[in-house]
Amino acid sequence: MAGRLENRTAIVTGAAKGIGRAISLRLTEEGAVVVAADIDENGLQDTVYQIEEAGGQAMPLRADVSQLSDMETMAERTIDAFGRLDVLCSNAGIFPAARLEEMTEEDWDRVNNVNLKGTFFAVKACLPHMRDRGYGRVVLTSSITGPITGFPGWTHYGATKAGILGFMRTAALEMAEFGITINAVLPGNVMTEGLEDVGEDYLQRMRASIPLGELAEPLDIANVVLFLASDEAKYITGQTLIVDGGQVLPESILALE
Ligand code: NAP
Repeated sequence: MAGRLENRTAIVTGAAKGIGRAISLRLTEEGAVVVAADIDENGLQDTVYQIEEAGGQAMPLRADVSQLSDMETMAERTIDAFGRLDVLCSNAGIFPAARLEEMTEEDWDRVNNVNLKGTFFAVKACLPHMRDRGYGRVVLTSSITGPITGFPGWTHYGATKAGILGFMRTAALEMAEFGITINAVLPGNVMTEGLEDVGEDYLQRMRASIPLGELAEPLDIANVVLFLASDEAKYITGQTLIVDGGQVLPESILALE
């Protein structure tokens, strides 16, 4: 174990697959104990199995980020099991597409409840435990979609991912006096299980819009989250880090020719 997070306890939401699983694996590789939280209990078992296979320690926990009581229980269970809570990676998110004309109030509320209200609930539930010890690292998973770019079908999603950054900036001010930092990572297109079925033609077109020529691997995002969760980032708060292979840079398609 390399040990950048030795003796630290971290919660990761959305840990059953994709980016959250990669974050969980990466933090445990560096010595953290991870509470892996998600609504997908089968996926959580796989995440914990992979962590233990690699010699790390993790505890699976079924928890819905859109329920404040679940988030409070998650923080309390972490303290009960490990005696401390150092890091929160608020990563759970959903991205069902619906164009504005077809989008229902239920669609809007569902995406908001998980992505934005879920972020608020996770941070709110963990805050008292971090404040008590005068230490905390919070890392939020936002996106380039919303804060920087748009994509048809994702007005609700983009609004939540931009909203997360507005939340973060004031939270950073409120939490600074307790020694807690909060920052956000903004992934571009990440090659997770969800993209496995889209077909090579679609992936090829996605790659063509990325200057570095490849989609991100979940590990690319996890490495940045690890940095923001570590003491190497102790003087950084309220900031965003885009991890997108340069995708937001071209001012027109001509810039990529
Ligand atoms: P993913 O593979 O779908 O994983 C997300 C996990 O969160 C799933 O296990 C999901 O369970 C779980 N989840 C959903 N609703 C939840 C809830 N209410 N409470 C707790 N867990 C819940 O997604 P991902 O691609 O890794 O994305 C992770 C984060 O990165 C999201 O916030 C996403 O917006 C962001 N992001 C992703 C990309 C990308 O290209 N993948 C790009 C930019 C940003 P179910 O599968 O059962 O729903």
